Amino acid sequence: MNSTPPVIELADIHKSYGDIAVLKGVSLTARQGEVVALIGSSGSGKSTLLRCINMLEVPEEGTVKIGGETVELSGKPRKPSNERQIRRIRSELGMVFQSFNLWSHMSVLDNVMEAPLHVQKRQRDEVEAEALEMLDKVGIRDKAHSYPSQLSGGQQQRAAIARALCINPRVMLFDEPTSALDPELEAEVLRVIKLLADEGRTMLLVTHDMQFARTIADRIIFLHQGLIEEEGTAEEVFQSTRSPRLRQFLSAAGH
Ligand code: ADP
Ligand code: MG
Repeated sequence: MNSTPPVIELADIHKSYGDIAVLKGVSLTARQGEVVALIGSSGSGKSTLLRCINMLEVPEEGTVKIGGETVELSGKPRKPSNERQIRRIRSELGMVFQSFNLWSHMSVLDNVMEAPLHVQKRQRDEVEAEALEMLDKVGIRDKAHSYPSQLSGGQQQRAAIARALCINPRVMLFDEPTSALDPELEAEVLRVIKLLADEGRTMLLVTHDMQFARTIADRIIFLHQGLIEEEGTAEEVFQSTRSPRLRQFLSAAGH
C-alpha cells in the first residue's frame, strides 16, 4: 500500500472557531486504494477535518493536497484563491454525510444524475446508464423513479452513495454515514461501503462503529482534542493500544 500514490495529503492542519482551537496541527495521508477510518469522541474534530478537505471549512494553517495538487489558499483570513480549482477538486471528492441531503423534489435517478449533468456537463445518455449502474450497485435500481420520501433511511443513504459515486470521485469521504439509521437499516449501508472498499476505492471514513472500522480499514486514526493521538492498523490500534486515552475511548465504546 505504501507504493501507491497519495490521494489526500493533509499537513499541519489548524482550524479554530473564534477562540476555540478545534484542529491543532493534523497531518495525514490517504493513498490510492487505502481505506482510512477516523475515530474519536464526539467533538474531537472529525467532521471539521473532513470539511477542511473539500474546503467547506478553510484551515487557518496547513496545506491540503488532492491528487498531488495543492489547494490554493491566500489572504487573511485565508480563502480559496482559485474558484475553478475548488470547483474541480470538489467534483473529485464523493461526500456522504450523516443526513442524506437528497433533493426532495427530484426522483432518485435525477438526484444521482444532477452533478454529472450540470456540474460536470457530461452527456445525458452516458450519465443515465452510469447512474442506473450505480443504483444497481447499491441495490436500489428499482427505486430510480421514486422520490426520496418514498424510501427508507437506509435506501436514501444508499441513493446518496450512488450519487457520490456517479461523479467518478478520486476518493470517497464518509462522515458517520449510518448514525441517523436504525440498526437494521445500518447493515445494508455498511454492506455497500464494504463492497466499495473491496473494489479498491480510496476512502476516508468517520465512524462510531468500531467493529466496522476494524473489518474495513487498512489504517485507523484516533483523533483526540484536535490532534492525532494514535494511528495504526486495526490490529495495532485495537490489540496493542498504546494511548491510555484511546484505551479509555475503546472501552467506553464496548471494546
Ligand atoms: P466531531 O465530528 O468529532 O464530533 P466536530 O468537528 O463536529 O467534531 O466539532 C469539533 C468542535 O468544533 C466541537 O466542539 C464543535 O462544537 C465545534 N464546532 C464545529 N463546527 C462549528 C462551527 N461551525 N462553529 C463553531 N463551533 C463549531
Ligand atoms: Mg462529526
